[in-house]
Amino acid sequence: MLDIKIEKTTNPKAKPEGPLGFGKIFTDHMFIMNYTEGKGWHDARIVPYGNLEFSPASMVFHYGQEMFEGLKAYRGDDGNTYLFRPDMNAKRTNATNDRLCIPHLPEEDFVQAVKAIVKMDEDWVPTEKGTSLYVRPFIIATDDFLGVAPSKTYLFIIILSPSGAYYASGLEPVGIWIEDDYVRAVKGGMGFAKTGGNYAASLAAQVKAHDAGYSQVLWLDGVERKYIEEVGAMNIFFKIDGEIVTPMLNGSILPGITRDSVLQLCRDWGYRVSERKISVDELLEAQKSGKLEEVFGTGTAAVISPVGKLRYKDDVMTIGDGSIGEVSQRLYDTVTGIQTGKLEDKFGWRFII
Ligand SMILES: *Cc1c(COP(=O)(O)O)cnc(C)c1O
Repeated sequence: MLDIKIEKTTNPKAKPEGPLGFGKIFTDHMFIMNYTEGKGWHDARIVPYGNLEFSPASMVFHYGQEMFEGLKAYRGDDGNTYLFRPDMNAKRTNATNDRLCIPHLPEEDFVQAVKAIVKMDEDWVPTEKGTSLYVRPFIIATDDFLGVAPSKTYLFIIILSPSGAYYASGLEPVGIWIEDDYVRAVKGGMGFAKTGGNYAASLAAQVKAHDAGYSQVLWLDGVERKYIEEVGAMNIFFKIDGEIVTPMLNGSILPGITRDSVLQLCRDWGYRVSERKISVDELLEAQKSGKLEEVFGTGTAAVISPVGKLRYKDDVMTIGDGSIGEVSQRLYDTVTGIQTGKLEDKFGWRFII
């Protein structure tokens, strides 16, 4: 159990009015904990949200030794505040930390810290349908040192940001750009880790896709540029001839918690489900023969993001009739229903604050 010291703000901010958007508004407090080699994690505290001061030599600025997580707190119709599977974020934190030589953070401490900061700023959890309080835990390397080596000191910080409904008026299908030049990650690299470097590597392709009128990039494998990996910040699913298919976790794909939840639900509902290699050629063929029934992305931000159009080189594939698929809609309704306390939580995914 962490002993969390609390320093309350003396200057609470006004709650936002109007559209929240994403990631621009922050609450009154943040959680901070230090790591020092030989001492471990120490000085867990909740303090007023504000700027931090760092030496320009701090290692995180130079070699990117950092990790982050993302989850949401939801206000239920019953007035309770819920988290969705934060134990999985805790586990994934340590998988990321191992890859980046960041010391382990005990899973129960991660969950305790998330609960404590959300509890502290619980009145910032928005109540309108589809809104949530986005929770962003992250760890940065803080040694003042320009040598290339793992840092001996770190900060674990959690900030909170009220965010608007991802879909203002029902699920909306997006257009996706299958990138055939840039790659995001390779086996043996850090594609499975949730770390800023993967996002830095993705920006050039994202700009290219946006310029061409597509909202997201779908990555291919880094070696043959032939097999489907994942979307920018989402995993990807296909319904091909009745079967639900998603790329298997191969080391270069981020193991999404929404992905895992969707797999469990689809299996529970009796669909044929497989995690395997999927080539672009297979998709093109399935689409031409009318067997590519649905495509959707999964991730904390959108939960389910139906894909209406996929572009690969000179081919533009329209998925189904371009509207929302039946499985996409059912998954969205079920996952958000569990998250907000409306539906039975038979898998034990909901944590109450
Ligand atoms: C976070 C993330 C996802 C989605 O993971 P969830 O746990 O479902 O939110 C997918 N891909 C990448 C690259 C990510 O960073």
